[in-house]
Amino acid sequence: MIDVKGLVKRYGNKTVLDGIDLSVAEGECLALLGHNGAGKTTFMKIVLGLVRADSGWVDILGGAAGRREARTGIGYLPENIAFHPMLTGRETLETCCRLKGRAAGEAGGLLERVELGEAADRPVSTYSKGMRQRLGLAQALIGEPRLLVLDEPTSGLDPMLRRRFFSIVEEFKGRGVAILLSSHQLTELEARTDRAAILRQGRLVAEGALSDLRRQAALPIRVRLRSESIDSIHDQLGGRRINGQSLELTCAHEDRIGFLRRLTELPVDIDDLEWGMPGLDDLYAHFDEQGGQRP
Ligand code: ATP
Repeated sequence: MIDVKGLVKRYGNKTVLDGIDLSVAEGECLALLGHNGAGKTTFMKIVLGLVRADSGWVDILGGAAGRREARTGIGYLPENIAFHPMLTGRETLETCCRLKGRAAGEAGGLLERVELGEAADRPVSTYSKGMRQRLGLAQALIGEPRLLVLDEPTSGLDPMLRRRFFSIVEEFKGRGVAILLSSHQLTELEARTDRAAILRQGRLVAEGALSDLRRQAALPIRVRLRSESIDSIHDQLGGRRINGQSLELTCAHEDRIGFLRRLTELPVDIDDLEWGMPGLDDLYAHFDEQGGQRP
């Protein structure tokens, strides 16, 4: 659905995207991560055909970005979407349907889909930020897109609406829709995206599934133990005492199975164990600090 190789984009003498290789397959969700100004939106605009790359190979839905089939096959939610405040949600979405060459009647079902059915006939000026964001999502879903490009889609949504947003993402993925999204909410992406790509100053510094990124980063795993015999465990394994009965240890990623074996072989009872694998935020910080180095 997206296949990009050696993508370069410059604005003046500033290189905003520097040799990006990325692909997103049917039914896959790729999260694009990076600090402000890393190049996420620019990458999305190139996929959409709104911005032209300076060099590199760009194949979107089997051809050039921006051609008619690519435009009609993509649903796009921009970062800061604005609607006419005097139009109702329904009027707004009906207009978007017509602009995309679809029947205005499609609007009703989509408004229900994003739970704006009851507010559909109120002017957008009366909508909360989260409601406007959902209206933005509804317009991205017009016309059964094969690829969804969503720039910070969960900004402004409360935790319940975020969950519902990701259930919509799952539903579309299940139908084979490819999804490219950007977000700064790293924790919520962990269980909900297939792969993450980390951009730093226009360069791709890491890319892969969470398990791949963990393997590449090889960050230590934090383990917290509670036991009546914590002194004895501390004597044998070292670590940092937390309080009377708890101990915090770290174990190398590649030694995690051996570490578990050593724990189970201890001649004492362990009452509780917390296994703290590095999260996407730890991995992001790691790759961002490393900077510049390609995977
Ligand atoms: P954010 O998380 O803040 O949305 P981003 O990762 O989406 O950031 P981009 O919007 O792609 O970043 O911007 C990447 C860089 O390109 C920034 O330095 C930005 O100032 C620059 N840039 C983007 N559009 C233009 C433009 N039309 N002209 C000149 N510079 C631009």
